[in-house]
Amino acid sequence: MSQSLIVFDASGVVRYQYNNKTNPFNDFIYAIANDTVLYHDSNFISFKSNQRKFYSIKRDKLYTALYFEVVTTIDQEKIRQTLNDVLKTYLKLTENDEDSSKLKKLIDYQFNQLMQYKQQAKAVDNPSSASPINSGTSTPKKTHVTNSKKKMRKWDNGEMVEDGVDESILDYSESKEGSVGPSDNTQQLKVDLSSFSHQDDLILVNELNDILDDSEDDETTQDGSSKSKGVSSFFNKLSSYFGSTVDIQEITKKFQDQLVSKNIHPATSKLILERINNKFGNKTQVTPKEYKDVLVEELTKILTPNVSTDLLYDIKGRNNQRPYVISVVGVNGVGKSTNLAKLAYWFLQNNLNVLICACDTFRSGAVEQLKVHVNNLKTLNNSTSKIDIFEKGYGGGDHVVTTAKLAINHAQQESYDIVLIDTAGRTHSNAKLMTPLKKFGDAANPDKIIMVGEALVGTDSIDQAINFNNAFGNRRNLDFFIISKVDTVGDLVGTMINMVMATKVPILFMGTGQTYTDIKRLNIKRIVDMLTN
Ligand code: GDP
Repeated sequence: MSQSLIVFDASGVVRYQYNNKTNPFNDFIYAIANDTVLYHDSNFISFKSNQRKFYSIKRDKLYTALYFEVVTTIDQEKIRQTLNDVLKTYLKLTENDEDSSKLKKLIDYQFNQLMQYKQQAKAVDNPSSASPINSGTSTPKKTHVTNSKKKMRKWDNGEMVEDGVDESILDYSESKEGSVGPSDNTQQLKVDLSSFSHQDDLILVNELNDILDDSEDDETTQDGSSKSKGVSSFFNKLSSYFGSTVDIQEITKKFQDQLVSKNIHPATSKLILERINNKFGNKTQVTPKEYKDVLVEELTKILTPNVSTDLLYDIKGRNNQRPYVISVVGVNGVGKSTNLAKLAYWFLQNNLNVLICACDTFRSGAVEQLKVHVNNLKTLNNSTSKIDIFEKGYGGGDHVVTTAKLAINHAQQESYDIVLIDTAGRTHSNAKLMTPLKKFGDAANPDKIIMVGEALVGTDSIDQAINFNNAFGNRRNLDFFIISKVDTVGDLVGTMINMVMATKVPILFMGTGQTYTDIKRLNIKRIVDMLTN
């Protein structure tokens, strides 16, 4: 059994390869050129040749493809999701000219996750845990998995078009192109309740542990062999210096490279290390351990919230007739509606009535997509609390503001505790698209504004965070981040530092997959370990 993965362009030139096995792809590339492949939709392709099954995703004249030498037990949607993630990673990191080792690390991690999933899928004959969230456009196969974070499904129309949101595509139309119908997979929607824990009468979200455990596990090398990360870890590489002092400039340089390799922006890591060097004053020699200890302290300080992130306490503890209003913002495709639905599921577990308000009134299909989530959540809801959607269709201008206000009034009249407002994804650097956020914020006056940002995004994360944080005017900032797709980046979790340091906005949760229970609280120590080891 052997697998391989490549990224190639329309002329067949291989731009990235997971290992050296590119030859088997020749048949597949030839089949694409001759149009003898099977199109599952406009960009998901499969092809069978001898004992091999190839799968590919196409975007922007680039393809990513993999094959299995034997019939695989992996859910096709899982393969599609991985290919999609890999292609996104490739496009983002090459666009931003990120260094190739980061690209390799991320893509290999994503591919290895799929391969691990394959092992698990084979090993487990009695499926018992979470199914992924499904948009309802395709019929999912049953996923044979034991661990919630290993199961994924993506929206069929959930393409990420980060830079594509401009006025020309804000059509405010009734068009249902790319929209999704009601869920047809309700019987398969399950959740992994071990993601939550009970404390008194509250249901709390667990901390992020297992994902990081994964990336601390043995690492598969390019030749397929395993090597322990403990042995190869950055800090251990410095062990030759252990105990003895080294030049502070030299060790600063090593840590700078380390932080950047973990997806911390070069300017941000420079700033962090300057602070550390200031702490050492005039010292020119330090031991690696001394240096690392101060760095750990500094990173811990950056990630430690200076306001409460206890959302349940805030919601339950207040004495207000008005429902608690939370709105979710971010660029397109980062996981706003998915994470909003995860929040809704958690609130339902806590016996809170939730009204979801569809304020992405621009993108065709956005309201329908949200309806699918709400239908799924209704199906899953085993509490006495209620959930529903509030929508007034599509429209520009003041339509968003009107919809939000009507939703809040409706929620108040119908005894909803929480209104969760989904907003349109927008490109953070496009002033024309960002300006309406201020008007929306003023009118809806949310108790909390949460920005969803992808762990994958890398260098652009700082500008995204700053622009969204500034979008609501001088007197209003973002309250929290949800960092999504942490399950796709392994230990390259530096985006969290980028976003928090740029804005001082704390992280509320992390998204760690596509099921409604794939949500985790920040474990600062673990994240800092990942960044410094
Ligand atoms: P939106 O446009 O920002 O509302 O994004 P969506 O909520 O539609 O999500 C875009 C895609 O990202 C979908 O395929 C989601 O299933 C996927 N997604 C969202 N959150 C996560 C996550 O934490 N992990 C992974 N792997 N995928 C996610």
